Amino acid sequence: MYRTHSNGELRLTNVGQEVTLAGWVQKTRDKGFMMWVDLRDRYGITQLIFDEERTPKEMMDKAKTLGREFVIQVKGEVIERISKNKNIPTGEVEILVKELTILNGSIVPPFTIEDETDGGDELRMKYRYLDIRRAPVRDNLIFRHKVAIEVRKYLSDKGFIEVETPVLIKSTPEGARDFVVPSRMNEGQFYALPQSPQTFKQLLMVGGLDKYFQIVKCFRDEDLRADRQPEFTQIDCEMAFVEQEDILNAFEGLTRHLLKEINGVDVAEFPRMTYDEAMKKYGNDKPDIRFGMEFGELNEVAQHKEFSVFNNAELVVGMAVPGGSSYTRKEIDKLIEWVKRPQVGASGMVYVKCNEDGTFKSSVDKFYDQEDLTKWAEATGAKAGDLICILSGNTDKVRTQLSALRMELAERLGLRKPTEFAPLWVVDFPLLEWDEETKRYHAMHHPFTSPKPEDMALLDTDPGKVRANAYDMVLNGNEIGGGSIRIHDKATQALMFDHLGFTPEEAKEQFGFLMNAFEYGAPPHGGLAFGLDRLVAILGGQETIRDFIAFPKNNSGRDVMIDAPSKIDENQLKELNLKLDL
Ligand code: ASP
Repeated sequence: MYRTHSNGELRLTNVGQEVTLAGWVQKTRDKGFMMWVDLRDRYGITQLIFDEERTPKEMMDKAKTLGREFVIQVKGEVIERISKNKNIPTGEVEILVKELTILNGSIVPPFTIEDETDGGDELRMKYRYLDIRRAPVRDNLIFRHKVAIEVRKYLSDKGFIEVETPVLIKSTPEGARDFVVPSRMNEGQFYALPQSPQTFKQLLMVGGLDKYFQIVKCFRDEDLRADRQPEFTQIDCEMAFVEQEDILNAFEGLTRHLLKEINGVDVAEFPRMTYDEAMKKYGNDKPDIRFGMEFGELNEVAQHKEFSVFNNAELVVGMAVPGGSSYTRKEIDKLIEWVKRPQVGASGMVYVKCNEDGTFKSSVDKFYDQEDLTKWAEATGAKAGDLICILSGNTDKVRTQLSALRMELAERLGLRKPTEFAPLWVVDFPLLEWDEETKRYHAMHHPFTSPKPEDMALLDTDPGKVRANAYDMVLNGNEIGGGSIRIHDKATQALMFDHLGFTPEEAKEQFGFLMNAFEYGAPPHGGLAFGLDRLVAILGGQETIRDFIAFPKNNSGRDVMIDAPSKIDENQLKELNLKLDL
């Protein structure tokens, strides 16, 4: 037997027992005649003591050879510690070692394996197996496991069946590029890795499974952005014979269950907001509503004077920053610089200080009087002591810019509290989105999303105005899930492909299997998918998903530990009938 107990287990009640422990040497402290070792495993740390007077000499000598991360086994007696460590559960006892076996040595690790490490991100990812020995990373993985188990329990109890769908498939457009896999047996042909199991889950509904879920890897070859992984995990779900309302209720239930079970937080019914409202009030389709700072549109109260910047703008929009009137000139200049950075892209910023005495001082006092500024304060909900920040220009652009400023300031003001949870549904997304580059409409969600029946007529006249039965679940400023009611009849699906610029042949070629299935009695259906990595990170009170993935890729999409992607050898290429022309 390698061990009788774990390193997180022994307490004062075990004093006097002979035990066997195994684990890694976290630290040694050598006083010559006495030596202490912190022995670590997944469950905790137990202190070992080697004492010249009580530990056999041979064992004492062996202990002197121990280095960090050696794997050892010890036998000894649990004794009460003289100087107790209140910070760890095993801190009242130690093991008086009688026998030490070195199970394996270790070379010096490249970073310290303690809660606070000196290792940088890349180094920690290269030696991820060492990083996983650290409590914060290990605890994140255990936390993720707990969330996944709760999801499975909850959905299974509600009658959802977990079904595995294939990984080698044909391309499913979800707006990103596919990763492809060459087929050796079929020269010149390729599989695609799923961007999501979208079409399969719909086919499972046609198959009568009624309620499906799957915790599943998805793959998207998107341009790299901080904290985006080319492979990620979804909680993918689909239900038959449902309307939007049924889906919102079902998955609000799941999320509420998770918040309760995992975080011990009770949340009220999720507020719902239309996409239009979210854009108008927060400039963002995933608003963080843990704090206010809602936008106020000022066109009506700001375009009547000689200030051409505002007069020429499509939208003049402002937001009140709590307590901001005390900002110095320098601090405000810094904010203006911040919004003018290329990443944000504003051309400038007008501001109004709302003085404690009820008067206003603005950067455009030349053009506007106190009466005007009072109206701006009303429109933005600004109170005495606030600072109103105002941007103007193209509607979509200024909303995005002001939203960036809102998030930045909220962060600086400490309004984004990780232990506070503010979920909401954003509904009524547009069906289509105009793409300037290709000069075409794209499906905003995906091509299987159903238009709102009452908007169908607009498809021909004003496609950009058509709303979809599509919804996102938003938590603390992050989209954690999204889905839609699907099209379930062939004619509407064909019409949709037509609007997306597919010829009937192309549609048939790519999606014939789905449209055929729709001819055999497809039930009305809909669903959604949660991003598990992000959900877990948020529930865990953290921002980066990488810390919750056992073996993540870096920001360039590389696995620096196994060194992937990498070249393959000539023979493999030949077998696959691939020629590289580099
Ligand atoms: N397949 C969609 C996605 O990956 C989710 C859904 O519509 O159910 O975003």
